[in-house]
Amino acid sequence: MFEGPLQDVIDEFSRLPGIGPKSAQRIALHLLNEEPEDIERFQSALGRLQRGVTFCRICHNISQEDVCRICADSNRDKSIICVVEESKDIQVIERTAEYRGRYHVLGGALDPLNGIGPKELNVTPLVQRIGGALPDVALGAKGGGASLGDADTPAGGDPNGADAAETGNAETAAVKTDVKTDVKTDVEYDEAPEITEVIIATDPNTEGEATASYLGRLLRDFPGLTVTRLASGIPMGGDLEFVDELTLSRAFAGRTAL
Ligand SMILES: [Zn+2]
Repeated sequence: MFEGPLQDVIDEFSRLPGIGPKSAQRIALHLLNEEPEDIERFQSALGRLQRGVTFCRICHNISQEDVCRICADSNRDKSIICVVEESKDIQVIERTAEYRGRYHVLGGALDPLNGIGPKELNVTPLVQRIGGALPDVALGAKGGGASLGDADTPAGGDPNGADAAETGNAETAAVKTDVKTDVKTDVEYDEAPEITEVIIATDPNTEGEATASYLGRLLRDFPGLTVTRLASGIPMGGDLEFVDELTLSRAFAGRTAL
């Protein structure tokens, strides 16, 4: 245990994710020996962190400007949207250099037990980007066909449930009318291009899967729109013997021809 400012800095670093007390101490001692101008640059970057960061008005990615670098890039395919949970997922996908479309950041995944419903996520802006408006009913209000958890009602199940699903679909269909006029258009960034495909790239865990199937149901009736889900499978360098059953069954379902 140190004392004074050194210990204060150690305590601050210890609060950060992924940094234990030992790492915090090592970083603090390292900073103690840094040149004053390096420390100033560090301080100034920290100071600008929250003031200089905003969210892209098109895709909700963390951005320095009103519109992020990806949305402002005229070389990207504007007709495809890849839906991710967090901005950091974009960084991961970008590193593969496989994808040349735009993104949409939901800001998390559906997690009803912790009070995260569609309204807490950027679902409405997604639907608006595709050219529709979302009725409250689809955001989980009573009787909504696309509300969480009721669309997989088996045929011949609860007749009330089936009615509710039909009503929901009808309402979803009803709002597919010309909403593009409501969307702010900006020639420079082409904020309302024709969307032909939505790729759902939420995490392959319980919340991510629930979010994917919710979005799949919500978007399936949009005319001319293909909704896909990232395939998941066996990790490279892995061994079949150690792959869990859920991963293996998803790998079977998503198998491709050689
Ligand atoms: Zn953007």
